[in-house]
This record gives sequence, structure tokens and C-alpha cells, in this order.
Amino acid sequence: MYPSMAEKTIIIGAGPVGSLAALYAAVRGHHVDVYELRPDLRDPETIPLNFAKSINLALSERGINSLAQTGLPNLVDAVLNETIPMHGRMIHLSKNGEYTREPQLYDARGKSLSAMDRTGLNKTLLDHLESMPNVNFFFHHKLIGVDFKKRLAWFERHHHTDDPVRGFEIEVKFDFMIGADGAHSAVRYHLMKFTPMSYQQEYIDKLWCQFHIPPGPDGEFRLPPNYLHIWPQDESMFIALPNQDKSFTATLFLTRSGFEQLDASGQVIDYFSNKFPGVIPSLITHDELRKQYTTNQHLPLISIKCTPYHFGSSGVILGDAAHAMVPFYGQGMNAGLEDVRVLFDIMDKYPNDRAKALKEYSEQRTPDAQTINDLALRNYREMATDVKKPLYLLRKWLEEK
Ligand code: FAD
Repeated sequence: MYPSMAEKTIIIGAGPVGSLAALYAAVRGHHVDVYELRPDLRDPETIPLNFAKSINLALSERGINSLAQTGLPNLVDAVLNETIPMHGRMIHLSKNGEYTREPQLYDARGKSLSAMDRTGLNKTLLDHLESMPNVNFFFHHKLIGVDFKKRLAWFERHHHTDDPVRGFEIEVKFDFMIGADGAHSAVRYHLMKFTPMSYQQEYIDKLWCQFHIPPGPDGEFRLPPNYLHIWPQDESMFIALPNQDKSFTATLFLTRSGFEQLDASGQVIDYFSNKFPGVIPSLITHDELRKQYTTNQHLPLISIKCTPYHFGSSGVILGDAAHAMVPFYGQGMNAGLEDVRVLFDIMDKYPNDRAKALKEYSEQRTPDAQTINDLALRNYREMATDVKKPLYLLRKWLEEK
């Protein structure tokens, strides 16, 4: 049983950021209830939201350090065991009609990014949470209302259609709410009614569509695995990150009008042949490319800035709920994991004054998070254009001197 005096912390959203926040609260002895709209993603029946296949992403020092600071000895090893190091970028270009690949290392001292499956990371965090006696999960629960003054939250049960309590509302009392419910956060929406929050959102003129590059006929990777592969084409870009099963997950980024033109003309094979050398048919067959282009969704990219992130001592938003960003800097989730570390560091500093801690968190975190948002927007140009310049590395090195 929980200590009767334990704080009741409720976490909204069991994505990577909510799950890590739940772990941080649980190791501090809070009574933690995690509410998640969707089913448990460890259930084999669960299909990842929005994605035909699970998304893979780059985990960086920022994220790894935040996982390490939980104090759970096996967590970082469990996560890193499921990653593939990417020591640099591999730039794929056609030069004078010839297909070339150019590796560009990230770090002279050999540091790397780690490619990993987002669902895999999320599962590892949920497994660790499950083993803690002071954590409860409430899947199929959609947050629909919050009163941050009375510390009450309302949820709608979203179970299978034959669930007798489907659609029923429940009321929950809490001491502290952490909203980690993603870019379209309900917590943020309700927080805005209690705190004068400045808010800005932008949909950029790029959509993304995911592709699967299977292992080769020999069962091996079809490309060198320890790189983030980029086919830079200014207005469009194709990238591929390695998976542990020797496949790659690739993503096409293209303007909305570019996608509309491809939809209308059906010339997706020609487009890939002209723009992205070496992709078809050696990585993806013509039929697969056409099929995946048509079947997989063409999804928008949102960038959100807001501040402050909290109300009094009763609630705070973290992760994409606070600062959804475009993916070009590979830092959206990493920054969200870092939010958790920074928040709990500050709360540890003021164990008896959460209102003060949350205020300091908002003040300290806002400029950092907004800077990462800006860098992410700017990094499209770096990935899609600047990496092609022959003196790129030298110039960058000189800039850094
Ligand atoms: P989410 O992952 O969105 O989780 C929110 C959770 O809240 C979900 O489980 C949702 O079901 C639940 N929820 C929503 N509403 C409610 C409600 N009303 N009630 C209850 N639960 C609710 N980041 C990186 O660091 N590196 C990368 O390389 C990278 N690549 C990316 C590539 C692409 C194409 C995209 C789109 C994103 C990428 N990101 C990357 C960003 C990363 O995916 C997000 O920043 C990260 O998933 C945010 O985690 P989160 O836990 O804050 O939100």
C-alpha cells in the first residue's frame, strides 16, 4: 500500500515523456496514477497511432542523461541495448550523373547518436513502471476536463465497443498533475483557462511519409548501418535510420504542393529516380514504393511554443504538450525527457514549496525549449541543402573555432 501521506501525482499521457515523469515521481515515493487515452502499447493488438510501422528516432545525450538520472540501475542499459549507434550522416547525391555517398562524422572524438524504435523505448519505460508498487495504469482513459484550483480531473472511459462503461465519465482528485499528452494536449487546453498562457503554433510547409526498407536478400542491412542516411534535395529530403532487425525506416519530407503534384501525376517512381539516387529498386522495389506512398499517411508537422508551463502548485505540462517541434534536429523527444530531469531537479531543491519550483521551472525552461524549437526549424536547411556543399565541413569547423 502507499504511504497515506504520499502525494497523489497523476500523469496524463503514457508516451515516452509521461512514462519517464511517472518513473521520476515514483522513485520519490509519490502515489502515481498514469492515465492514457490509448490501450497499453505492449499489447500486441495495439497499432501505433498515426504510423503504419512504428517510428524510429535518434536518442541523444540529452535523453540518455535524463534516463540515467532516474537512479534506476538497469534502465539506461535496457534502453541502449535496443539501439544502433549512428556515428555520422551518410549523404547520398548524384554528382555529374554519378551516384556518390559521402560520410560526414558527427564528432571527432567518436560520439554518436543512437537510432531506436520509439515504441521500444516506451515499452521499456512502461515495464519499469509496472514493477513499482506505487504506480497504477489507467489505459483507455481520455482526459476531458481539469479544475486546477480544486485539483479535480475528469476522464472519459474509451474501452472496446462492448465495454459496458464505455463513454462513462469519472472524476479524479489529485495533488499534482503532469500533462505529457502530446502536441494536441488537453492538459494545455485546460491550463490556459487558469493561467495567462502565451501560445503560438505553426504548421510548416512540409509533410512526411514513412517507408520501410527491408533487410537485403542475404538478411543484412541494405546500407551501412551506423549512419543517418540523407538524400538532400532542398525542397524535399529522404532520410533513413537503421533498425535492429536490419531494416531501415525511411521518411520522405516534401512540401504540401509537392505531395499534391505527386498524388495528381502518380509519378512517384520518376520522382524518386530523379531525386534520390540509389533508392529504387535497390532499397525498395517499384511496387513497394508505390504501395507505401499510397497507403502510408502524409502527415503534417507542427511547431508549438507556449509559456508558462504551470499553474500554482497543481499542474505542469512537459514534452510535446509544452513545445512540440519539427523533427529536423532530432531533439523533440530528447528535449521532453530533459524536461523531466530539469523539473524534478528543481522540485528536489524546494521539497516543501512546489509552487516556487514550478514557477522557476517555467522561467528556466521556456528560453531553452524555445531555442531548441528554433534550431529544429532551422535545421531543415542544414539537412536538405547545406550538407551538399563541398566545403561544408571545413566551413563548419572554422565557424566553431
Ligand atoms: P507523445 O509521444 O505524443 O505521447 C502523448 C501521449 O498522450 C500519447 O500516448 C497519447 O495517446 C496520450 N494522450 C493524448 N491525449 C490524451 C488525453 N486527452 N488523455 C489521456 N492521454 C492522452 N524526437 C527525437 O528526440 N528524436 C528524433 O529523431 C525524432 N524524430 C521524429 C521524427 C518524426 C517524423 C516525428 C513526427 C517526430 C520525431 N521526434 C523525434 C519527436 C518525438 O516523436 C516527440 O517529441 C515525442 O514522441 C514526444 O513525446 P511525448 O511523450 O511528449 O508525447
